[in-house]
Amino acid sequence: MKIRNRLTLLFTAIIATLLLVFALTVYLSYSKNREEEYYKELYKSATTKASLLLDAKIAPAVLQLIYKNSSDELYPEEVAIYDTHFKLLYHDAVSIDKVKETRAMIDEIIARKRITFNQGELQVIGFLYPHQGKFYVITAAAKDVYGLNNAEVLKYTLFAGFLIAIVLVFIFGNFFAKQALKPVSDLVGKVAEINAKSLDSRVTEGNGKDEIAELAITFNQMLDRLENSFDAQKQFVSSIAHELRTPLAAMLGELELSLQKERSTTDYKQAISHAIEDGRQLAKLSSNLLDFAKASYDPSKISFKELRLDEILMDARSQLLHRSPGYQVNLIFEKEIEDDDFISIQGNEYLLNTAFINLMENGCKFSADKACQVAITYYADKVIIRFQDNGIGISAEELPHIFKPFYRAENSQYAGGSGIGLSLTKKIVTLHKGEIWVSSAKNEGAVFTVEFPHV
Ligand code: ADP
Repeated sequence: MKIRNRLTLLFTAIIATLLLVFALTVYLSYSKNREEEYYKELYKSATTKASLLLDAKIAPAVLQLIYKNSSDELYPEEVAIYDTHFKLLYHDAVSIDKVKETRAMIDEIIARKRITFNQGELQVIGFLYPHQGKFYVITAAAKDVYGLNNAEVLKYTLFAGFLIAIVLVFIFGNFFAKQALKPVSDLVGKVAEINAKSLDSRVTEGNGKDEIAELAITFNQMLDRLENSFDAQKQFVSSIAHELRTPLAAMLGELELSLQKERSTTDYKQAISHAIEDGRQLAKLSSNLLDFAKASYDPSKISFKELRLDEILMDARSQLLHRSPGYQVNLIFEKEIEDDDFISIQGNEYLLNTAFINLMENGCKFSADKACQVAITYYADKVIIRFQDNGIGISAEELPHIFKPFYRAENSQYAGGSGIGLSLTKKIVTLHKGEIWVSSAKNEGAVFTVEFPHV
């Protein structure tokens, strides 16, 4: 069920309950009051008749005649007067006799002085009437025609009022719920129009203050992030295509050229070794891209365990030196390691190894002496590793860009590469809640500093 309908029904149900309680209270209180008032009327009429009979000594036959000739509407009370021994002294109409008095009833009236009860549509009152030192028992019965009619009218009026009020509450409630939820419906309509191709559209942010506006603002912020990441993905994919195309085109060009005419064995060997070099570059790029994808995963999907960073650095160093025997990597421990915990973090061995190899390799390949120094130190809360070289350095304008995927600085002609290494390294460091920064200047070498927290 839609919120709008639910709100309308809830609102209508609450108002209906309140109106029902109100109408019942009014009706019951009116009925009780009418009954009480009518008993008083009956009492008055009966005592008047008793006084006419006993004080004014009006003959019973005259009173009976008056009763007989009066319309039921005007004189509806039927009065009977007994003495305390249940002897009938007067009766308005013995033949009609609405209240069948009994000895027990008379005794009860004597005992309680006043009783009232309903007999069908009639209200009956019985009371003890003192007169000149004697007691009489009087009963009077009648139907409160006017009062009951009024009660009936009141009942129908309340019922009709209740129904009209409920219908109006439902209609207005529905209208106001629609008005109140209109911004949400507009939002839903606008959101439904947004797809991958129209990620640049934004929903209107209303008055910018209420909850709906907050929702719209948050939604727009989410769209900003989605759009950015879509653009980054697009950029990334086109960069990959470009990076793959260059070595592939070079390889194909070289092979096709060598096939065009008969060549010497040395030429063929040279063409093949160039193709192998391009192939290696492609293989490295694809494994780098795989690592990049791995590091872009949700961290919860990557296995972390307690690792000693010095061991990983030594592993990375020996792998790099095995691959590039001309390189030189010096590992320096700035503090003596007294406890494993000082140098350990929670991490993923494979990814950290990849990051360290990248940094060591860059240091060696961008310096004339092909050497890189790795200094490691620790504090209570963190481990710091510095990768330093005396190479060609990076210009100040290019420093802010070198961590972007596929970015290669001007100095990159100096050595081959794909421009993916540092962005991958940064991703890996961030995944380990660490930080990486660089300080360098043209021709003055570079220092990459990596900081990992212990937890
Ligand atoms: P690649 O080394 O494959 O070109 P990276 O992402 O590792 O890609 O590095 C990006 C760029 O940053 C390099 O092309 C280079 O211009 C610059 N760079 C990285 N490390 C160094 C360094 N130690 N000395 C000088 N330049 C560096």
